[in-house]
Amino acid sequence: MLLKRPTWVEFYRDMAFCVSMRSKDPNLQVGCVIVHPESLKILSTGYNGFPPGTENTSKNWEKRTKDDLVVHAETNAVLLTGQTDLEGSIAFVTMYPCKECAKMLIAKGIRKVYYLSFKDKYEESSALFEAANVWVTEISFRHFRPLRRGEDATLKDFEDGLIQRVRFILERVNLTGEPTGVYKALRENTEELRSEDLLSPWPRELKDKILLDKWTHYFLFLALIASTRALKNHQGAILIDSKTLKISAISYNGYPRGVNNDEDDDSMQMSALENAICLRLSEGRDFIAFSTHFPSLHEVKNLAQARVKRLYFIWPKTPDGENINEKALQIMKDAGMEVVPMDVPDLEKLEKAIRDTTGGLKRAEEGNKVPFSAWPSNLTDYDLQPKKPNRL
Ligand SMILES: [Zn+2]
Repeated sequence: MLLKRPTWVEFYRDMAFCVSMRSKDPNLQVGCVIVHPESLKILSTGYNGFPPGTENTSKNWEKRTKDDLVVHAETNAVLLTGQTDLEGSIAFVTMYPCKECAKMLIAKGIRKVYYLSFKDKYEESSALFEAANVWVTEISFRHFRPLRRGEDATLKDFEDGLIQRVRFILERVNLTGEPTGVYKALRENTEELRSEDLLSPWPRELKDKILLDKWTHYFLFLALIASTRALKNHQGAILIDSKTLKISAISYNGYPRGVNNDEDDDSMQMSALENAICLRLSEGRDFIAFSTHFPSLHEVKNLAQARVKRLYFIWPKTPDGENINEKALQIMKDAGMEVVPMDVPDLEKLEKAIRDTTGGLKRAEEGNKVPFSAWPSNLTDYDLQPKKPNRL
């Protein structure tokens, strides 16, 4: 079976949706991904959640209390960018932005918004987006575009497609063969690291059920989703800041930006992890990497140099199909890098989590005057391409 490669727009649509799956809102999980308009590199992500100090109790998440407490996905993505410049950037959101978020996005310089789902009540934001056209000519309502959900434009079609992509990636695990002794020993020595979670700057107990219940599982899941954009030998990687747990890069294996891939020359490709360390947003920090694969020997020194202090991976094979290399392990150990082999994510659980998340969007759409599936389909005919770098 071949994977239908998601376009850039479909890729970031999936990513915004998967980012939202970490939200603890039991009714509606919303995600936002902001990308650079030329490189299409990821600049920020966010999902709806409470500010520091507010506990994730079902009482706080009740409809009448949550509105005063929750920070929306788009606002989180804008507020948590720190020093990153978002001028001219593109936002992908799973729900059309409310008025407050529209203000934030416009103020921060976002020029284009793609959305997956729509609630009549948020239609009031359109006036703001249109008004912004007065002082920024590039902004107009036509730049706020509904995202493709599949052939019949329903969320059902979208969720089936996403599950199919996740299944395709996970089924490849069967191709990796018997675990080697080196891998088994690594598993035994890292049992604790594998079961414990990362500690966020504001650790809060999860009092209610959440499907991607650990940061580590969440980031590995995003790495899996990233791998769906690769042309072949699907690898995905996520780099996060070790202190804030903010996503610093999302990547997959492929050709460097601007390099033509007509020749199909594998030696011109970069691995997902190498791409991630090149695309990372901040310097001088310690990072944690999540990868679908164990790194090749030539990647390891670069990971250490880029201050990756811990690496979580799923498949005990390198991108070149080699077994785990003891020399690579030694280099990482010498650099003070911890290496944690993780379990293969459970397809059934992921499938359920995806369906629960689309369930929230479907409920939010109930009662809309015009169902999304009745929207003109020519609105969704588009794509983005990274700008080819110019010669100086
Ligand atoms: Zn909002």
